[in-house]
Amino acid sequence: MRPARVVIDLDAARANLRLARALAPKSKVMAVIKADAYGHGLTRMARAFAAADAFGVACLEEAVQLREAGIHHRIVLLEGVFDAAELSGVHTHRLDIVVHSLVQLEMLEQAAPGAPIPVWLKIDTGMHRLGLPIEQLPGAWQRLQACKAVAQPVMLMTHLASAQQRGASSVMRQLRNFEAATAALSGGRCIANSAALLSLPAAHADWVRPGLMLYGVSPFEDGAAAGAELRPVMTLRSALIAVNRVRAGETIGYGGTWACPEDMPVGVVAMGYGDGYPRHAEPGTPILVNGRRAALIGRPSMDMLSVDLRNVPQAKIGDPVILWGAGDGGILPVEEVARHANTIPYQLLCCVKMRARFEIEGMADDTTPGGTLAVEELDLEATPVDDGIA
Ligand SMILES: *Cc1c(COP(=O)(O)O)cnc(C)c1O
Repeated sequence: MRPARVVIDLDAARANLRLARALAPKSKVMAVIKADAYGHGLTRMARAFAAADAFGVACLEEAVQLREAGIHHRIVLLEGVFDAAELSGVHTHRLDIVVHSLVQLEMLEQAAPGAPIPVWLKIDTGMHRLGLPIEQLPGAWQRLQACKAVAQPVMLMTHLASAQQRGASSVMRQLRNFEAATAALSGGRCIANSAALLSLPAAHADWVRPGLMLYGVSPFEDGAAAGAELRPVMTLRSALIAVNRVRAGETIGYGGTWACPEDMPVGVVAMGYGDGYPRHAEPGTPILVNGRRAALIGRPSMDMLSVDLRNVPQAKIGDPVILWGAGDGGILPVEEVARHANTIPYQLLCCVKMRARFEIEGMADDTTPGGTLAVEELDLEATPVDDGIA
């Protein structure tokens, strides 16, 4: 069997959620599990994060998938509805919605849902992506108060553009804008993503909305989340499927972009961009072989990549390889791989393909016994709808 696989450590996930709570003890936690829980599996991670107060997802389809898996938590559609027809699904599945525009507000005013819908009003305080401009806030607020389709009180939220850059001046400006715009309004407040949760107590407010940190990954551009003991949830693993001695001057892989500086051992790992490993990872990107650091060489191909084994000269076919995550006595943060691939860890996690098998470690939820619960063989032809572990 091809050795490429993804290991998900649910105990680590739960520990990260406990850490989020400990760091923001006065806030409720909306665990963000959009994009298939950052590639970790939507329903599986919802169960692991059962201690959260709510879940944040990107769209109705994700929320429905959670409801169909028996998840009864409060679920917030972080971008709200994309058209008025979705409001009936919102009502049926008892979801919360973000309202970020007057267009969405009008949809609510025209709607007659069976019961009032909880609304999180999103205000643009400087990110300039989603949210009502501050000038529109008083009018929109009045209309939401008057709207029968809206459950009261309305929540207030905003999103920070640069909390992941330590000391960014725009962060304080956004907080001041939010403060000023909402001072006269009642209702719970929600501002902080992972970076703000970890570094900015002033942004904790009534609710925090962590995503990345729950998966054990630092959101900061300079790497480490100081003082926070995040535990990586995802480990991308494989094994050596060939070990070759290659002569000095010979090149490795497509395009011959990397030449051996000396006669050297070169390993081939069953892992490639078809599995979600970044094709743009540069030579020198760390890879753990037998728990020891080795380096990517040449361009990763679809199913395979090459590794410089000079640092692990005894390595042989079948030996374990970690592309990111923890195991074999070593740890390789996905943040580090992302830097070498000129991207961010968010993207690497989201891009991991189902083709690599998922293995689950730890307790599925607090009611099931521990131990390895399941090895999921994912059928390439099948649509991965419910990847629950039950
Ligand atoms: C994705 C998202 C988050 C979580 O961000 P992290 O950086 O992963 O913690 C929070 N809020 C909103 C609106 C989001 O879209």
